Formats: sequence, C-alpha cells, structure tokens
Amino acid sequence: MAITVKNPIVEMDGDEMTRIIWKMIKEKLLFPHLTLNLRHFDLGIKNRDATEDQVTIDAANAVVESGVAVKCATITPNASRVKEYNLKQAWKSPNGTIRSILDGTVFRKPIIVKNIPPAVRSWKKPISIGRHAYGDIYKSVEFKASGPGKAEILFTAASGERTSLLVHEFKGPGVVMGIHNTEKSIRSFAKACINYALGEKCDLWFGAKDTISKTYHGFFKEIFDQEADARKPDLEKLGVKYRYMLIDDAVAQIMKAEGGMLWACMNYDGDVMSDMVASGFGSLGLMTSVLVSPEGKYVYEAAHGTVMRHYYEHLKGNPTSTNSVASIFAWTGAIARRGEMDGTPEVVSFARRLEDLVIATIEQGVMTKDLASIAEPRPSKYALTEEFLDTLAARL
Ligand code: NAP
Ligand code: MG
Repeated sequence: MAITVKNPIVEMDGDEMTRIIWKMIKEKLLFPHLTLNLRHFDLGIKNRDATEDQVTIDAANAVVESGVAVKCATITPNASRVKEYNLKQAWKSPNGTIRSILDGTVFRKPIIVKNIPPAVRSWKKPISIGRHAYGDIYKSVEFKASGPGKAEILFTAASGERTSLLVHEFKGPGVVMGIHNTEKSIRSFAKACINYALGEKCDLWFGAKDTISKTYHGFFKEIFDQEADARKPDLEKLGVKYRYMLIDDAVAQIMKAEGGMLWACMNYDGDVMSDMVASGFGSLGLMTSVLVSPEGKYVYEAAHGTVMRHYYEHLKGNPTSTNSVASIFAWTGAIARRGEMDGTPEVVSFARRLEDLVIATIEQGVMTKDLASIAEPRPSKYALTEEFLDTLAARL
C-alpha cells in the first residue's frame, strides 16, 4: 500500500540529462510507493523563456508557502545557450533567483560509500560546505570602461548624504564591477552555519580574506565572530569549535584534515570549493545540496549540473551511464524533511530506506561509470543510467 505524504512538496523540473533522470526517479522509485502531492513548476529552459522567467519566481514563492522543495538541475544560459535554445535573452541563474528570494544558505555534503576511496587520503569523514547564497559577484553590476576616464562608486544615504569613492582612473579600456552584501544576509548566513554545525555536531570553519579586504571581508569576519560568541554556551556544550582562518590557509588546512567539519564559505569560494570537495570525494554525482532559509524553508537538489555531455550522447541514441544518486538524495532529503514537518514517521523511514538501499547497492558493486572507474575493487562492468535505477526499483 502506498504511503501518503501529507502536505505538498514543491517540485522544480529542469533540463537535459537530469530532466530525463528526474522522470525516471519519480516513475520507478517514488510513484509506486508514495502518494505525493506535488506542486509542479517547469523550470526547463524553454518554459523559463516562454514565461519570461516568471515560473522561477512563482516556484520560489511556492517554497515560501509550502516549506519544502526539490529541484532538478537547470541550464544557466550563456551566449552559446541563448543561440542553442533560441532564447529571448540570457535569463539569470534560477538558483540565484531562488536563493535571493529565500535569502538562504546552501549546504553541500558528499554521500560516503565504503568502496569509493577519497582522492585526498586524509579525508575520512564528509566535509560539508556552507555557501553564502546571496550577493557578491552573483548580484553584481558590471560594465566595460570604453577608454580613459574615472570610475567611481557613490552611496546616497536615505538622509541625502553622499559618500563617493574613486575606483580607478582609467588610462585605457578596462572593466568595472560593483558588488554588495547586506548585514542581514551575512548574519543569517552565520546563524544558519552555526545551527547546521550544532545540528551535525561538527566543527565550523570560516575563511575569508580580511587582510586584503579589511572592510568587505572584514565585515563578514566581524559578524561571524559575533554570532559564534552569542552561541558560545551551545557550542561549548556540544564540543563544537568555531575557527576563523584566512581563506588560503583554510584551503591548505582542508587538504590535511580528516573531514567532519562544516566549512563556511563566501558565495564565490563556496561555488568553487564545493566542486573541488565533490570531486575529491569521488564524483559530482555523490554530492547533495540543500538551500536553507532563516525561516526554515528547504530546497533540496543535486550539486551537479544538467550533465550536458551525456545528454548529447543520449540525443544521438548512444547509451549513457549518468549517476542519479545525488538526484535521488535530493528527493529523499525533501521527502524526509516533509515527513518530519508533517509528523509522519513512515514517510521519513521510506526516504531513509531508499537512501540505505542506494548506498548498499553501490557497495555491492552496482554503480554508474563515474564511480566504477574509481571504486575499489573495480566492478567488472558499470550500469547504464536506466539499469542502475531499474536495479534500485527491483530491490525496493
Ligand atoms: P555538470 O552538468 O555538472 O557536468 C560536468 C561533468 O561532470 C559531466 O560532463 C560529467 O563528466 C560529470 N558529471 C556531473 N554530474 C554527473 C553525474 N550525475 N553522473 C556522471 N557524471 C557527472 O556541469 P556542466 O556540463 O558544466 O554544465 C551543464 C549545465 O548545467 C550548464 O548549462 C550549467 O548552467 C548547468 N548547471 C546547473 C546547476 C544547477 O542547476 N544547480 C549547477 C551547475 C551547472 P564526464 O563528461 O567526464 O562524464
Ligand atoms: Mg560551481
């Protein structure tokens, strides 16, 4: 008998290979066992273009209402994608739009399986990365300076008082960017990281470059220090340590560490370092991601993109071996969270059972090509995209 998931989950469909996997996960693993109430939003590039990206905003607002969402990877169009899909314009990153509406923090955590040894020998436990999900270059304005001239920044306070600063006096062409962040967002980021570290009982590292950027990066450090100070009794009680480091020191230290910490990163650092940590733990296909808002709204997704190269093979009619594990864990994360919020333990245990089954299946040697090439021992053959899901479905 199907288990009923009481309240709605917001479902955001996506693009390319992950869109294909998405449909298979629902049909093979979820629909036979769960009665789901999905609020479906099609964030596929064609529909974002048709709705002038309104669908992304509607989906983010639905998360505010419903509290839990699961998102498929989506194309962030660049010039070549605009041409490829004949788009009206290069729409903004949907993840960027959703993050700024929710003012949330993204936490990424690798899925550890026994037979995939990490590339970094000292890593024994998962390294979670908390990526500040608002501002900096992701909410920037930028332009090209056409030639000689002055670039300035100007702040006009609500009172009318003006502060201006010279950015650079150009002797020839160049580029200029204006970035910002807000105290409110940095503070909720720091709070979210401290909460996550307390929840997982893991140490918290924060790295920035306050020696160079004394005001901008310094502001982040100041707020982190204050928030950690405010939670000192809780941190001490659980033995959770907070460490501030320069970002380059943090990068060096992480390569020698055992893992088991939350590494809080500014927006760009988190974007870059989460990909490094993910490949260090094996595959992007084993990296999960969740956006958490200060109000406790959750958007679960895989950390990887739409796996475009595999999609092109698929379109040519060639078999693919794309890892669906992170996408499955996006669904189980959302379903378990929904079950916790709804007070339906049978829903939570279905999600955990599916996760355990996925890990056990890989540990028994059934896995996609990305994992087969790094597993110890190497399996004699790898599973195709659909074969892997069919194996799970049969075992479920
Ligand atoms: P990607 O989709 O993450 O894939 C890059 C490469 O990583 C793949 O070609 C593949 O390597 C490997 N890979 C990633 N996920 C895999 C999986 N599940 N199973 C097996 N291999 C996997 O990044 P991309 O190709 O640079 O980007 C494609 C599109 O995704 C872009 O349009 C980008 O905007 C979008 N994107 C979306 C999100 C999101 O929605 N959160 C995040 C990142 C990127 P091999 O080719 O070696 O097999
Ligand atoms: Mg990235």
